[in-house]
Amino acid sequence: MNNLKWLATASIAAISLTLAAPAIADVTMEDILNDAKTPGDVVTNGMGTQGQRYSALKTINKDNVGSLVPAWTMSVGGEKMRGQESQPLVKDGVMYMTGSYSRVWAIDTKTGHRIWEYAHRLPEGIMPCCDVVNRGGALYGNMLIYGTLDAKLVALDIKTGKVIWSKEVDDFKAGYTETAAPLIVPSKAFGPILVTGVSGGEFGVIGRVEARKVADGELVWSRPTIEGHVGMLAGKPSTMTGKKNETWPGDLWQTGGGATWLGGTYDPETNQLFFGVGNPAPWNSHMRPGDNKWSCSRIAINPENGEINWGYQTTPNDGWDYDGVNEVVSFDMNGTKAAATADRNGFFYVLDRTNGKFLSATPFVKNITWAKSIGADGRPVYDPANRPGDPTKSADGKKGTAVYSVPSFLGGKNWMPMAYSQDTKLFYVPSNEWGMDLWNEPIAFKKGGAYLGAGFTIKPTFEDHIGSLKAIDPATGKIAWEVTNKAPLWGGVLATAGGLVFYGTPEGELKAVDAATGKQLWAFNTGSGIVGSPITWEQDGEQLVSVISGWGGAVPLWGGEVAKTIANLPQGGMVWTFKMPKKLAAN
Ligand code: CA
Ligand code: CA
Repeated sequence: MNNLKWLATASIAAISLTLAAPAIADVTMEDILNDAKTPGDVVTNGMGTQGQRYSALKTINKDNVGSLVPAWTMSVGGEKMRGQESQPLVKDGVMYMTGSYSRVWAIDTKTGHRIWEYAHRLPEGIMPCCDVVNRGGALYGNMLIYGTLDAKLVALDIKTGKVIWSKEVDDFKAGYTETAAPLIVPSKAFGPILVTGVSGGEFGVIGRVEARKVADGELVWSRPTIEGHVGMLAGKPSTMTGKKNETWPGDLWQTGGGATWLGGTYDPETNQLFFGVGNPAPWNSHMRPGDNKWSCSRIAINPENGEINWGYQTTPNDGWDYDGVNEVVSFDMNGTKAAATADRNGFFYVLDRTNGKFLSATPFVKNITWAKSIGADGRPVYDPANRPGDPTKSADGKKGTAVYSVPSFLGGKNWMPMAYSQDTKLFYVPSNEWGMDLWNEPIAFKKGGAYLGAGFTIKPTFEDHIGSLKAIDPATGKIAWEVTNKAPLWGGVLATAGGLVFYGTPEGELKAVDAATGKQLWAFNTGSGIVGSPITWEQDGEQLVSVISGWGGAVPLWGGEVAKTIANLPQGGMVWTFKMPKKLAAN
């Protein structure tokens, strides 16, 4: 009798488990293209392919956010903590999250329980420049696709975590890695395509943007970012990028850098991919006189064939490692199809995204030295005295004149994505106020070796803070408000129709501030530094907010004097999800 009773209970439990298990539907191109407008899921990096990181949800708002509480948390586990720079994705009750050391988890969004984990087997000798991070995956069909530190793309079955396909992008021993979230966009010729860039700019790799068939990872086109290199289309050489030796004299273009390590955004309205391009290699600009296109630039690419529609160069003949990779965010500016980007070089740019025409540039950090201004033609006005000197002109030929440059090479803003609010019409930019002593040294290219030809020490501009979240009006370039933070900001931002802006700090707090004023309305200590990007979505009528916490990234590795001041921040690796207590949410 007892046994029978147990059996009956067990089968009821089994039935209810089956009923409760989320029904996981395939992710369609419609889901991807509509992501920004569908608050019930987050299926793209950037919360929409245009990268606005804006949610129309307002259940959580200025009036009640102070009551936000944790719903659940999950540890990424193991000893492999380090920097967690990911943005989670959510669909049908499951969260998909990438993490340090090329790992991925599927998590039940109601309970925080793990559904599966995938730990990519990494070989000895990977060469990530800036911590073992991953910045997120892409969903399509029954697949989650992401890049690994050994320069592979891996497609996993979202139901099981099993590998469906895996492709090597390039040789990790030459310095290639994959850390950015891939982008999935439609193409008439090839169907859904997966678009990715490459990391490795400090090793003299040649940057490129590539498109593959989502179904099997087969390459359909490739577009090198550096002038003189030839692209590929449908298995054959296509066109040359630019004109050989036009802005790169000599042979250095052959190892010219221009990594596309942060991935890109996609604008369905103009059917263009927007990718940022990193620094030219080596750092010593005296070895490569000329503009060095398209290093330190934004390029618009036609997804059908990989051709460059337009390019805009933020730092021609860069001598400061001002990678031009930062995200291009499409938005409407009083009827103009505009795009904004906050550059490493400390200027906030607005372009006409239909043709790349320069509209404006305004400084968003203080005391910039490398340029006097940005001219009406969109080119920086240089002060030659503020460019690090030529080592061959020094007495012993070993060290060029050192200069103090602002921003530091870690940038007025680095990889961490900004947000745009469709209500306030402001951009929320996670910025940092710091400079560097910088000098050039002789260097020769060696495959797989660091290719800088420079030395540096980073220093804070102010005593009391480095980080600064700024609200910028793209129409005027004016800074509407600023909230400072002691440690450098290194995580993404989220804006909501609830009049809120969410962002995390290395000190460990996820914060919500008033989107109109910057006034802090809520903060929660997650126990480790936040360098990931928060998301929000709706489930069963409730609004939830999630962020991954886990200190790391480039600052502790490269921060010089700054790194010393933040050396005791605790490591971690927990994804946190917050919601309103039901009674309060109903008020
Ligand atoms: Ca959505
Ligand atoms: Ca760089």
